[in-house]
Amino acid sequence: MTGDLAHAALKVFEGLPAATAGVGKDLVNEPMIRHWCEAMGDTSPAYEGPDAIAPPTMLQAWTMGGLSGHQGRSGAYDELFALLDGAGYTSVVATDCEQEYLRPLRPGDAITFDAVIESVSERKTTKLGTGHFVTTRMDVRADGELAGTHRFRILKYAPTARPLPEKKAARRPRPVVNRDNAGFWEGVREHRLLIQRCSSCGTLRFPWLPGCGACASQEWSTVEASGEGTVFSYVVMHHPPFPAFDPPYAVGLIELAEGVRIISNVVGVPYDKVRTGMPVRLEFMRVDEELELPVFRAGDAGPGSGCASGVVSGGDSGGVSGGASGGEG
Ligand SMILES: [Zn+2]
Repeated sequence: MTGDLAHAALKVFEGLPAATAGVGKDLVNEPMIRHWCEAMGDTSPAYEGPDAIAPPTMLQAWTMGGLSGHQGRSGAYDELFALLDGAGYTSVVATDCEQEYLRPLRPGDAITFDAVIESVSERKTTKLGTGHFVTTRMDVRADGELAGTHRFRILKYAPTARPLPEKKAARRPRPVVNRDNAGFWEGVREHRLLIQRCSSCGTLRFPWLPGCGACASQEWSTVEASGEGTVFSYVVMHHPPFPAFDPPYAVGLIELAEGVRIISNVVGVPYDKVRTGMPVRLEFMRVDEELELPVFRAGDAGPGSGCASGVVSGGDSGGVSGGASGGEG
């Protein structure tokens, strides 16, 4: 539960430093500019050549502490957060950011910065919960001259209590079966994982599609996967929760021995033991009275050992057909 915090007790933090005497870890430099532009797809000529400036939106990048962080967060900031935590506002979400640019930054500029707690709002109730908005303003200087400001707002809040999802009642999403992928699901019913094979050029494809991506032929047959595969990649789903799924769980992109890939559950090992390159073997998991799904078991653990749960299979990433729906996030 949250205790009522007098707004006055929070207002006293306004104007106090959030961070002092910050120093940019690197001078403004061309490699970071180039990486940023590549990541953003920004090809403006202003950011190249002998007279290059840094993209203004990089303002905060020059102040970042990297993985090792920065020293110099103020006692006042920690104290404010402790006060809010103590009153039950233990969650935090960034809500918005505003920047103002006063002069361009150029390679070689040395960055320093200070941040101040600009405002702490009255108690507000949002969809996420009730709490206080805390706005900090960072003044960024280049060679001592104010180059821009970065205003950053967060909500420190107590999450709204939500009714527990009706987990017991929730059923796994049903796969969307259509005429393009019906053969795949027929195979699953017979405990066979079927891969399409182009009759014209022989290319294997998965998930199921009406035509060949290599030669456009619409003639195909199927081959049955041997069931051997390896984890090509994986993610662990923590959030958001979906009814019928119990996070955290591992979602694997399995490369079959035949060379095509399929998204599925990796079972037989805890979610945090799944690794790229891990050998896995196909099996069929009964989900409920009408649904079975192909999943992949790691190691030689027999059925019934502890396993991740909660995925779907059949589709490639963003797969259109051959795929069960939901859960992959
Ligand atoms: Zn083909």
